[in-house]
Amino acid sequence: MALTLTVLGCSGTYAGPGGACSGYLVDDGQTHLWVDAGPGTLANLQRHVEFDAVDAVVLTHEHPDHWTDVEGFVNVLRHVARREGVPVYAPSGLRGHTYGDNSPQLAWHTVSDGRRLRVGTLELSFSRTDHGPETLAVRIDAAGRSLGYSADTGPAWSLEALGAGLDLALCEATVPTEMEGTMQHLSARQAGASARAAGVDRLLLTHLWPTLDPDQSRREAAEAFGAPVDVAVVGARYSA
Ligand SMILES: [Zn+2]
Ligand SMILES: [Zn+2]
Repeated sequence: MALTLTVLGCSGTYAGPGGACSGYLVDDGQTHLWVDAGPGTLANLQRHVEFDAVDAVVLTHEHPDHWTDVEGFVNVLRHVARREGVPVYAPSGLRGHTYGDNSPQLAWHTVSDGRRLRVGTLELSFSRTDHGPETLAVRIDAAGRSLGYSADTGPAWSLEALGAGLDLALCEATVPTEMEGTMQHLSARQAGASARAAGVDRLLLTHLWPTLDPDQSRREAAEAFGAPVDVAVVGARYSA
């Protein structure tokens, strides 16, 4: 079974009309991982997987566009799915923000740069990026396939830090080219350059501000990457 990424939300920083912020379902047909739980992603999660089948949640950092639907997920686990101890893997800064911190529904695990762990049939490894609060990019491997997710990052971090041989890279491309260097985020051009340096097979852009033209971002990234590039859309599935 292929390693599959399903986009639950991909708006950068805030959701565009009818959109959702960062969130992805990663699965290999056996293990289902919810990676980032931005606003709107809990609603979209239900189109793709039963609540009982979510094996764990990974939250990359404490900015609210990446995690706030965990609050609703606690309610689902308590009142609907009636599950306890669902693992959440997140950097240390995040736990103190959530009202579900000490609820039995979630089992929080602090992760940090360089950490490796296994969730079911998936192998995870984390790399701290160039972003304000501690932010962890994640690489996920299963059955000889691999995908990497940049989370949020500035240009001082590269997809190379996730190691060689990524079949699919999901990379943030938040800002327009003219804003490069003004924030700890990447432009599409910088995302393309990072993916090229890392030798990734395919590049998928995400976390674009809703104000950007995705076609322009696609063109700028493709030029820097040296191959065609996709821009994430809600509901789309990609195989690593
Ligand atoms: Zn963000
Ligand atoms: Zn952020």
